[in-house]
Amino acid sequence: MRRWREMLRLTLSVAVAIAVLSSCSSPTPASSKPEGTSPAIVAEGPSTLALDIAPRSIQIHMNAIVVDGHADTPQRLLFDTTFDIGARQATGDVDLPRMRAGGLDAEFFSIWVPGTVTGPPAVERALRLIDSVGEAARGHPQELVLARTAGEVRRAAGDHKIAALMGLEGGHMIDDDLGLLRAYFALGVRYMTLTHFMNNDWADASTDKPAHNGLTAFGKDVVHEMNRLGMMVDVSHVSDKTFYDAIEVSQAPVMASHSSCRAISNHPRNMTDDMLRALAKNGGVVMINYEASFLSEEYRKALETLGGDVVAQRNDMEKKCGGDEACVTLATSRSNHALMDSGRLPRVTWQKVVEHIDHAVKVAGIDHVGLGSDFDGATMPIGMEDVSKLPRITDALLEKGYSEQDVAKILGGNILRVMEQVDSIRLSSLTRR
Ligand SMILES: [Zn+2]
Repeated sequence: MRRWREMLRLTLSVAVAIAVLSSCSSPTPASSKPEGTSPAIVAEGPSTLALDIAPRSIQIHMNAIVVDGHADTPQRLLFDTTFDIGARQATGDVDLPRMRAGGLDAEFFSIWVPGTVTGPPAVERALRLIDSVGEAARGHPQELVLARTAGEVRRAAGDHKIAALMGLEGGHMIDDDLGLLRAYFALGVRYMTLTHFMNNDWADASTDKPAHNGLTAFGKDVVHEMNRLGMMVDVSHVSDKTFYDAIEVSQAPVMASHSSCRAISNHPRNMTDDMLRALAKNGGVVMINYEASFLSEEYRKALETLGGDVVAQRNDMEKKCGGDEACVTLATSRSNHALMDSGRLPRVTWQKVVEHIDHAVKVAGIDHVGLGSDFDGATMPIGMEDVSKLPRITDALLEKGYSEQDVAKILGGNILRVMEQVDSIRLSSLTRR
C-alpha cells in the first residue's frame, strides 16, 4: 500500500540529485539590474509604450527588480499542449514577451492542485506542475532561469533573464508528510500556502467552515519545519485563526503571496487591518492580489447575486473544460469581462490595485507591501489585463508622491528582504544544532 511512496521517494531523490548538480554555479555576489537597460527593454514592449505613462516612471520601473508573488501559469504549461510561454499569446496574462514589456524580473509560479484532489494524485500532479516550470526554463534558457533565493533573483536580473520561482499553493499536497514537504523544498519550492480554498487535515481555510480552530499540532510542526528548511510560510487563503496561529508559531517573517485588504473589499480571502498590523510586526509582506472581487466590494456583492443563467453557463463551461483548470480560469475571466462590458457587473479598473497598495502601506508600513497579481488564476481589472501593464502601478504610485525608493520596495525589495530573512533564520537554526 505504501509502495507508491517508495517509488515517489526514489523519483524525488533522483530529481534532487539532478537539481543539486545543476545548481553548482559559483555564488557570485548579488548584482542589481544594470543601469541603462531601459530603452532597449521598453523598445521590446510596444504595449508599454502604448500605456501613456511618464518616461521617468518607465525608467524607474525598468530599473527596479520587480517580483510577482503569484501566477497560475503552470496550469497552462501543464494542460495546454499548444501553449508556448516564449511566444506572445492572445489569451491569458503571462508569457515571456509580455513579462519583458511589463518589466517583470521574477515570478512565483504557483504549483496548485485543487483541494478536491488529495493523497497520491495530488502529489503526482504537483510534481508534474513543478516539472512543467523546469521545462519552461529549459526550453527558453536565454530568457527564463529557475531561482530559489533573493541572490539568484538579483543575478538573473543582472543577466537580463526572468527568474522563475515556485510556491506550493495548498498544504494538502504534502499529504500529511513532512518528508514530502522537504522533497518539494529540494525541488525548488520556496513558499507553501498553508491551505487553498478548503481546509486540509491540519489547517483551516478562509473559505471553509472551521474544523481545527486554526492550526493543529501537526500544522504547527509543518510551520516549524518550513522555518528550519528556509521555506516561506504563505498565509494567503488561510482562516483568520490559522493566520494568527502561524504568526505566533513562525520564527521567520511570513508572507501573503496574493491577498488584498478587507477594509476595501470584505472578502474572507483579504486581510483585515489588524492582520496587516500583525504581519508588519512579524516582519512579513502582503502581496496585493488583483482579482476583481478582492479589489471591489461593489463587484464582489454583484458577483454573489448573479442570476441562474450565468451559473448554468459556468457549469456548462466547466464541463467542457474537463479537468483543464487553465481552461476554466480563462473562460471565467472572459465571462466576467463580458458581464462588466454589458453592465451586469460593475466595472473594476486597475486603479483599485493602487488603492489597495496605498491602504496596506498606510496600515502595515512601506516595508511590508508587495505585488501578488494572481495572473492566469483570476479576473483581472480593466487596464491590468496582463503582466505588460505593470508599469502603470509604478506610474500611479509616483504620481501619488511615493519616492523612487519606496516604489522599489513595493515592486520587489520587500519580498526579497523577507526571502533573505527566512534564509538567514534557516542558517542560524543550522548552527544551533
Ligand atoms: Zn489562490
